[in-house]
Amino acid sequence: MEKLVITVAPTGSVPRKKDSPHVPMTPDEIAETAYLSEQAGASIIHVHCRDENERPTSRFEIFKETVDKIRKRTNLIVMTSTSGIAGTTDADRAAPLKSKPEMGSLTTGTLNFAGRTPSVVYVNSVETIQYLAKAMLDLRIKPEIEAFDVGFIQQGRKLIDLGLVKEPAHFQLVMGVDGGVPATPDNLLHLRNQLPPTATYVVAGMSRMQLPMTTMAILLGGHVRVGLEDNLYLKKGVLARNEELVARARHLAEDLQREVATPDEARKIMGLSAVA
Ligand code: MG
Repeated sequence: MEKLVITVAPTGSVPRKKDSPHVPMTPDEIAETAYLSEQAGASIIHVHCRDENERPTSRFEIFKETVDKIRKRTNLIVMTSTSGIAGTTDADRAAPLKSKPEMGSLTTGTLNFAGRTPSVVYVNSVETIQYLAKAMLDLRIKPEIEAFDVGFIQQGRKLIDLGLVKEPAHFQLVMGVDGGVPATPDNLLHLRNQLPPTATYVVAGMSRMQLPMTTMAILLGGHVRVGLEDNLYLKKGVLARNEELVARARHLAEDLQREVATPDEARKIMGLSAVA
């Protein structure tokens, strides 16, 4: 089996310091988490940034400072978010890509974040999706096609057909968001079976489903994403640090006799050229 690529998603758009003091918010905090996560076995970091009030932001200056600080301290593959929670216009959402990450996230559909009060509609029109895909293509940034449900995969495949995403493509299967596909073994197999044959994929399980979905992905030959963006706890009542979640994924893989990729090995697996 291919070596396992572990992505750490340390911050996200939702958790605040009051939810967990371990969520990194500032560029320095995120760079420190990146360093500790690389030591623990991560090879990709999925970056969201926050403003002075911990609110999600797509401000270029903040992303640039964060990406530069991560690069100074680690060899991790940097993937920036193009989330519509942080930025509203298409240009806003593309701004973090100018910080020159190797990868960028690309959500290929609209969904309800039904578990929030009030609920949030995460809007990704076809035009927005194509705009962001084109921006990444022009900047030679590899997209991670983010699928919250089955139809998102088919929309990702359309981008390949249109020439907006190059093959082999890379997908993220987000399991267990309230409003998206539930995190069950059957659903994971079904999603995986919809992928193009040459695609790589990473599985992100939400909350308490992070551990079982991580385990399944390791066994299936997929890759895994862990971190406080998706799950704040190591186990019931015990808050996690990002690097602890990475270390747990690594130990699981090693126990199951699957080797863990270094960042440079992950670049080969993801089809990225070496960083200059
Ligand atoms: Mg994200």
